[in-house]
Amino acid sequence: MRYNVDMDKIKTAIIGGGAAGLVLASALKNDEKTVLFERGERVGKKLSATGNGQGNVTNLGVTKEQYFSFSGGEARAKEIVTRYDDASLCEYFENAGLLLITDERGRVYPAGRQASALTDALRNLLSTRKVEVCTKSRVIEIENAQGGFVITVQKDGTETEKVFAETVVLCAGGTVARSFGTDGSAYALAQKFGHTLTPLFPSLVQLKSDAKELKSLKGIRVPDAMVTAIYTDFSSGSPRQRSVRLKGDIMFADYGVSGDSIFRLSPFLTHRLQDGVVLSIDFLPTFKENHIYQSLVKKQAQFPNLPTSELLCGFVNNQVGRAVMKRAKGDLQIAARTVKAFTLVITGHLGLDSAQVTKGGIRMDEVDENLQSKKQKGLYFAGEILDIDGQCGGYNLQWAYSSARTVAAAIDQKYGKGRGQV
Ligand SMILES: Cc1cc2nc3c(=O)[nH]c(=O)nc-3n(C[C@H](O)[C@H](O)[C@H](O)COP(=O)(O)OP(=O)(O)OC[C@H]3O[C@@H](n4cnc5c(N)ncnc54)[C@H](O)[C@@H]3O)c2cc1C
Repeated sequence: MRYNVDMDKIKTAIIGGGAAGLVLASALKNDEKTVLFERGERVGKKLSATGNGQGNVTNLGVTKEQYFSFSGGEARAKEIVTRYDDASLCEYFENAGLLLITDERGRVYPAGRQASALTDALRNLLSTRKVEVCTKSRVIEIENAQGGFVITVQKDGTETEKVFAETVVLCAGGTVARSFGTDGSAYALAQKFGHTLTPLFPSLVQLKSDAKELKSLKGIRVPDAMVTAIYTDFSSGSPRQRSVRLKGDIMFADYGVSGDSIFRLSPFLTHRLQDGVVLSIDFLPTFKENHIYQSLVKKQAQFPNLPTSELLCGFVNNQVGRAVMKRAKGDLQIAARTVKAFTLVITGHLGLDSAQVTKGGIRMDEVDENLQSKKQKGLYFAGEILDIDGQCGGYNLQWAYSSARTVAAAIDQKYGKGRGQV
């Protein structure tokens, strides 16, 4: 182990070169020495894979309801994403040389629909700053020292060195999508200072079911289904049955269900699975049950030789129609009801490696309004490492951006602004 003399005058050390770390490093305006440590071979690996490779960087509909927290952080999240809102994010990336476009659901993307453009834009901004970027540099320990911190960095997975930094920002992400360097090991860096973690769950993730129909439905995508999730809520002390309903695509797989509707429902569900979660799928949300029933009766009378199993074909996807009719045992009244409320008991989720976001993290009541630790002065947090998770649709990158800008402003306040405005 050696002490790196070149590194001994770091004012701000940023741990993690993901979305939050890159925004923070590029947003800092003070001229003091700033070093970003990223354990991977390159920065922004996850950022470059977001939005199915298209980079859904924010959403024009950012509200408090889009953010979740176990430790009461929703109000703080709202405050922060209001201060550095979607317009601020768009301006930031446009000033970094990007053109952005918005789809019909308010989702904002780089106009070229390449997520890597987000990373490139932040990298371009960084090249105009005096930030030193150290890749293949995993921070394995942070210790309190006089006037700051001693950070132990493991280079290339072998050699370690110690550096001193006055201010440290943990932007090391959560515990899902581990192939992007976020295996949850960085939480321990904060726990050393007395920070505690909420329970951790995957979010924006596929859901599992044992329903026997899945075999025949595997691979089918139903656009614009109305999906209702029914779950038990214990937040008021006694159990209450609640539901959340939304319209979106649903995709069937051998393990269960996926698709945009499932990703958007998952933040309400993954921590409640042990208490029982049922999905009820309306395959024909624009038709009333009686209309469907009458249409089935009419069709049966018109085509008496058509097997009952085929009667829903032409109303919904053929495979879906057959599965519904099988469940209804050929009873047309029950079939009409079932096509409007096809239930699936949810037995689990597809796991940490399939999820996009971590639900839970460093408790929000352990940080102040600038996201500085209440337990250790000079230690800050930004991004997914904190107990804030956002809805599917660009809200998580918005949180990474807004939280990083909040910390950047606090650090600039501390060291003074030496650079021009971005
Ligand atoms: C496949 C996928 C698609 C997604 N799509 C979207 C989307 O379209 N829109 C959206 O809003 N959100 C999306 N998300 C979520 C979003 O990417 C994250 O919420 C966001 O990247 C979090 O930013 P972060 O900087 O906090 O963490 P990360 O981006 O995860 O970055 C953390 C970084 O810290 C590094 N690190 C960890 N530990 C250490 C250590 N000890 N030392 C040094 N470095 C360390 C990691 O290698 C990593 O690079 C997606 C996620 C995934 C996995």
